[in-house]
Amino acid sequence: MLEANTSPKGIGKTIMTRYSKDPRQISAKFSSNCCKCKTRIPKGATIYYWPSSGEVFCTSCGDAPFRQFLSSAKDEEVYAGSGNPYVY
Ligand SMILES: [Zn+2]
Repeated sequence: MLEANTSPKGIGKTIMTRYSKDPRQISAKFSSNCCKCKTRIPKGATIYYWPSSGEVFCTSCGDAPFRQFLSSAKDEEVYAGSGNPYVY
């Protein structure tokens, strides 16, 4: 899974920093509730998780912001001051 977004142009250290806070699609390790619609999320369900804020979204709520993140990740890296090793 990690390899999917790894660019041959990337720098190892920077990639690890990115992954530590990048939102991701995972399987819920425990039951919870969607931060947006409050839908019950059962253990094992597919969810979107934002490590930076600790937020969890169900698939219907998380899909749009997750796609938005993917398209804006470059800008967020610049704003965070950690630079951007990628050229999309
Ligand atoms: Zn939801």
